[in-house]
Amino acid sequence: MKKSIKIISLLVLSWMSSVMDVSGQKTFETDTIITPAGNLEITFIGHASLLFKYQERYYYIDPVMQMADYSLLPKADAVLVTHDHGDHLDPIAIEKILKPETEIFLSQLCFDKLKKGKVCKNGTFFIANGVPVETVAAYNIYRLRGNGKPYHAKDEGNGYVLTFGPLRVYVAGDTEITPEMMKLKEIDIAFLPIGLPYTMEPRMAIEAAKLLKLKILYPYHFNNSNPDEVFRAFLGTPVEVRIRSMK
Ligand code: ZN
Ligand code: ZN
Repeated sequence: MKKSIKIISLLVLSWMSSVMDVSGQKTFETDTIITPAGNLEITFIGHASLLFKYQERYYYIDPVMQMADYSLLPKADAVLVTHDHGDHLDPIAIEKILKPETEIFLSQLCFDKLKKGKVCKNGTFFIANGVPVETVAAYNIYRLRGNGKPYHAKDEGNGYVLTFGPLRVYVAGDTEITPEMMKLKEIDIAFLPIGLPYTMEPRMAIEAAKLLKLKILYPYHFNNSNPDEVFRAFLGTPVEVRIRSMK
């Protein structure tokens, strides 16, 4: 029964692109995914920073002031932070979008810096202001610093799978392909990082998208990598690659 619901919902999956006009600062691209349970609006703030709007609630991922003036953006119903690096955790940005009901979810290292929010470990579940979320390990296996330690150590960072009605959206965080990622099922949309040297490169993101059997792939966290390589790899296949401003 669950399977048939899934198939029906994907048949009506469609989208449109527009630009969010926030007075006084840069505009942002948005995509709207139409589902029978309501529209999911995705705003591409930049690099690793995203905003999801669903059922009139605002869910922020990794807000940082380097990408936007968050004092001009809507207040958050929930904030999810993947890990404690400066391009993902910015206490000032979080402060700008807080309201009394805002829920914050983060890793232990983020909590140690922010001093607020709920710590969620890899492989756990929680509800972020009405949206079910699964926490996925995010870490390096091959990419190491000069001292031999990974750029992102296991158990220190989170990816998140957010379930918006029938849609399962995976925001991977700074990671490579991991055994935990490969266990994920029925992901519709994924944000996979392609920026070297900290995450996977385009070639590995292409492999991950195939293994995850995605419907839509958004490469993000570009750094100096070229997302066009990912786009070209899926031409003529069922996977739709959308390149947005996420350098
Ligand atoms: Zn990082
Ligand atoms: Zn990063």
